[in-house]
Amino acid sequence: MPIITPTALLERNKKYAESHQGFPIIAEAVANGGVFEATLVPTCVDFRVNPDHFLRTKPEDQILVARNPAGRVVPAFLQEVMLFEAFLGLTSVVVIHHTDCGASHFKDDDIRKFHKDRLPDHSEIDHMVFGAFDNLEQSVRDDIHILKTSPYIPKKLADNCHGFVYDIKTGLLTPVEYETHV
Ligand SMILES: [Zn+2]
Repeated sequence: MPIITPTALLERNKKYAESHQGFPIIAEAVANGGVFEATLVPTCVDFRVNPDHFLRTKPEDQILVARNPAGRVVPAFLQEVMLFEAFLGLTSVVVIHHTDCGASHFKDDDIRKFHKDRLPDHSEIDHMVFGAFDNLEQSVRDDIHILKTSPYIPKKLADNCHGFVYDIKTGLLTPVEYETHV
């Protein structure tokens, strides 16, 4: 038995909807002078890491949380930045990685091997990246570096890319300094 079943999730959602406050649709927000500039926060999918809790996000903050394993700046995430920059306008990107991340417990080589053993004909797996890292602060710096040097990121946004480490024990964020010569 799974810990939580889809049926149980459906029941839980039904209870939630009883007190749900509806949001304005985009056309209503535009009519009210809404400005769609957003802050984009890539972070990990880990269930111990819920940015809506530890950042106390509110809808009016216009924070977009993009979760992937470890919260890495992978090619798919760069495409998200391009999409949101063109569609909404972004004011900043805040990379948040966390202590005891699963990505510090596995190696990309092991993940590739697992799948290559099942799918030996798929040589493209050899080039897949799964976001493993050895050094937490450095993983944040590496991702900030990708953002700041990507040809797809406008300079105004590149200058507003920040990195933090979230401590799952204390609940605190710590800024990670990024040196421009890295
Ligand atoms: Zn993680």
